[in-house]
This record gives sequence, C-alpha cells and structure tokens, in this order.
Amino acid sequence: MASTKSSSKTAKPAKNGKPAASKPVKHPKVSNQQLWIGGKSVRSVSGKTFSTINPTTGDVICQVAEGDKADIDLAVKAARQAFESGPWSRMNPSERGRLLNKLADAIEANKTELAMLESLDNGKPIVDSLNADIPLTVKCYRYYAGWADKNQGKTLPVDGPYFAYTRHEPIGVVGQIIPWNFPLLMQAWKWGPALACGNTLVLKPAEQTPLTALRVAELAAEVGFPPGVINVVPGYGPTAGAALSGHMDVDKIAFTGETSTGKLVMTAAAQSNLKRVSLELGGKSPNIVFADANLDAAVEGAYFGLFFNQGQCCVAGSRLFVEEKVYDEFVAKITEKAKKRRLGDPFEMTTEQGPQVSQEQMERVLGYIEAGNSDGAKMLTGGKRLGDKGYFVEPTVFADVHDHMKIAQEEIFGPVMSILKFKDLDEVLARGNKTCYGLAAAVWTQDVQKAHRMAHALRAGTVWVNCYDVFDARAPFGGFKMSGIGRELGEYALQMYTEVKTVTMAM
Ligand code: ADP
Repeated sequence: MASTKSSSKTAKPAKNGKPAASKPVKHPKVSNQQLWIGGKSVRSVSGKTFSTINPTTGDVICQVAEGDKADIDLAVKAARQAFESGPWSRMNPSERGRLLNKLADAIEANKTELAMLESLDNGKPIVDSLNADIPLTVKCYRYYAGWADKNQGKTLPVDGPYFAYTRHEPIGVVGQIIPWNFPLLMQAWKWGPALACGNTLVLKPAEQTPLTALRVAELAAEVGFPPGVINVVPGYGPTAGAALSGHMDVDKIAFTGETSTGKLVMTAAAQSNLKRVSLELGGKSPNIVFADANLDAAVEGAYFGLFFNQGQCCVAGSRLFVEEKVYDEFVAKITEKAKKRRLGDPFEMTTEQGPQVSQEQMERVLGYIEAGNSDGAKMLTGGKRLGDKGYFVEPTVFADVHDHMKIAQEEIFGPVMSILKFKDLDEVLARGNKTCYGLAAAVWTQDVQKAHRMAHALRAGTVWVNCYDVFDARAPFGGFKMSGIGRELGEYALQMYTEVKTVTMAM
C-alpha cells in the first residue's frame, strides 16, 4: 500500500545564512493510502478521505482514508479478536520478542524509504530522519524485544498456609494516539512496550503525518505479526481520536500531544469505561546556564536543544536562563549561530532546518513571535516567514525575556528561542520550577555539587546535565505536573502495559 517510487527533482532550497548546495535529490511518490485493520488495507466505512500535505511546498502528497467512529469500532473488534482468540493469545513471550526484533530488522532494511516518507510528510531534514529518527526507532523495538520474555511476577511470602504469586498480564486492547513531530519514534515508544507485554493495539497517527505508521504496519504484517494485533486508523482527533479514547472495549489509552488534548482524552476515558490512561504532554523546559559552564558547549547544547526538529519538540529548551556574568557573551554567540542556520529543502543533505509541519503551526509560531515583540522582548535575529511557499520560519532569538511574557510561559513548538537573565542559583531554581509543566530541564555547570543540587530540585521528569536531548530506550521519559502521567521507555513503560494479578492458593 504505501508503495513509494523515487523521482529525480532539482531542489530549490530557501536560504538563510549559508546557502544549501543545490543538487538533484530523490523525492518519493506516494500512492493513496487506506486504513490498516485486521492485517489488511481497507477503505473507511464512510468512504471519506483527507489530503496529507507536503509542508515544504504546500502540495498534496496523496489521499488517505479518513477513519471515524465506525472504523475505530472495526479496528477494536479486530484487536479484541486477536487478543482473545487469535494466535497472539497463544504465542510464547519469546516468540513475541522474536517478532519485535524482526520488525526492527525490517525497519532497518527499509530505512531509506521510511526516512524519505518521514521527511516528505513532516518536513524534517532527511539527515535527521536517517541519523536520529530511524536509529532511535530501531533501538526502541530491539530494546522491547528483549523485555518480551522478562516481564515476570514474584512469589510472595504471605502469612498462613498459602502459596501466593503475581502474574504480569497484558492489559488487553490498547488505544494509542500520537502526534506529528516524531511519527516513527512515537509509534515505536508506544508499540514496543505494548507488544512486548502481549497487548494488541489500535493506533491513530496524527492527521498531518499518517504515512510512516501505515508503512510500518505493513512491514509488521510481512515479518509475521498476526492479523489484528496491530491496527492503524488515520483520521482526525475530535472524531477518530475521541472514538478511541471513549471506546467501551478499549482497555487502555496512551496519548502523546498537547496538555489540553490530554485532558479531553482523560475525560473520555473516565466517562466511558475507566480505561487506564498514560499521557505524555507539553513542556516549557528550563535550560539553565551557569557562569562556570563550558560556555561553548552550553551554546552548542542550547542551540540544539531549541532548534532541533524545527523547534517542534515537547522537551525544547524554550526557557533559556543564562547567568548575568556571562549573559552578553552567551547571547552574542548563540545569535551568531542562529543566523547561520541553513533552512531549505529537507531532501538536501546540507539542510539543517525544514519547514514547520503545517500552515496552522507556522501561523501559530508567527503569532508567538508577534507576542514576543509586543511584550517588549528584544528580537536579535529572525522573526519572519521565509519565502511564500512551504511553511518555513526563520530561526528567531529573543533576548531580555521576562517570566511574565507569553513566550516565556506557553509552549511555542517552533524555532523561537527565549533567553532570560538570572543572578544566582536559588533565584533560577524558583523561576525554573514556576510553571505548570515538568517534562524536562537542563543545567550547564562544571561544579558537581551545583549540578546535583539542581538535578534533584528541578521538578521535571528528565534533567540533563551538560547535555540536551539525549534519549535512550533504556532511560524512562515522562512528565511531572501537567506534562503527563506515567513513564515511557525503559523498564518503567512495562508497568503502563501490564495488569498485575495476585494468585493465592491454600496449601
Ligand atoms: P497538536 O496541536 O500538536 O497537533 P494535539 O494534542 O492536538 O497536538 O494532537 C496530538 C494527537 O491527538 C493527534 O493525533 C490528534 O489527532 C489527536 N487529537 C486531537 N484532538 C483529540 C481529541 N479530542 N481526542 C483524541 N485525540 C485527539
């Protein structure tokens, strides 16, 4: 179904700073897509389709079948059948692990095609798709392949003449809703632990980026996942997403996206069958640079921590606190770097920044830039849309940002850096924690004691010290406060896909 053909086309990269080299690149051509239910491609019940858009040009890539409540019903039925009576219910855990490894192999074998689909649909530079998204995705599946036969219970030393033990059982049919910023990787974070623990699933990818999810579902069928174990229903949030969150026969819902949407998902779960809920939501992460830091490394890390993936990261270091003593030097250095960032066609190997994912997101980011200016922050570079084709936004740096400003409070999800000045540790700690979010934070210092003190006191699910955006399948990830519920990745993710059962037998 997601067959791709390559066509040669000369890229005309938009330029900012150094021009990206112009050379012929391969753009994949994609055929129209259907839903993936019960191990095959099917039309939507309504027959409706929607366009998925290439954010680099604004052109339609292809039509995708639009799933809604009736399609979610069919997908849940297929998943239920696979869970209760299909081959999945009788499969040995080690065999599930073998299948997950085979899926990782298949993704590796098709990495160029998948990376191209990801860059086409999302707009991220192909070098990022190839060097970050694909390897992290493969490693995630391999990591959970290893867990498939190790999610074990315990024997319990209970009082009395009883033998008691726990079983770690799958929850059942799992609904999963993912966003558009890392489509392949978010799918792996969701599918890896869910499948390792023996659940079956229905995934709703983001409407902006449905292509790679469908292709990976097809690869999963090719490597031997039985029909119905994996179902993918593209569609919109308020229709397909809401139907999944509120479904009476879905046992658990896992969601990644905005905090406001997470509340809707949790409400739907509560109002239907009290299905289990895990949420990975927004952030406004403080990235704190002390004067004793290796300044060049901090500049590099802060630049990457904000601009990576067009700024479309829930962990983006979007409140960059810099100690007064090095503030001017730091601001000058990072502004210089931002000015040189190369924007252009994601299919150029030299491109560092592609377009924002959609017109809506581009307009939202430009709205925040306007708010930064009207709130009185000092814009040092960027600030505009680049060109009039595609959804490019110039890398933008605001200095002299204050805590009360909109750009210091709300998640921007774009290439907009806000730099704030601070005097001492206690002050920056209080200001760093003064947010409803708690997803990630970072500290730059060469003082070990200061590093640990900050790492312990920052209220966030992940704290990076002298680095940023370091992700690993073994390291749990998730939010404090309104950044979410539960932890993905690592051993901790198994808990989100397991029911613990106690068995007690009289001796
Ligand atoms: P963004 O604004 O970045 O697209 P969202 O939280 O709206 O973030 O989207 C993340 C995912 O949630 C997408 O797959 C989207 O379709 C889905 N979604 C949006 N609204 C709802 C909803 N009411 N119920 C369930 N899922 C939703």
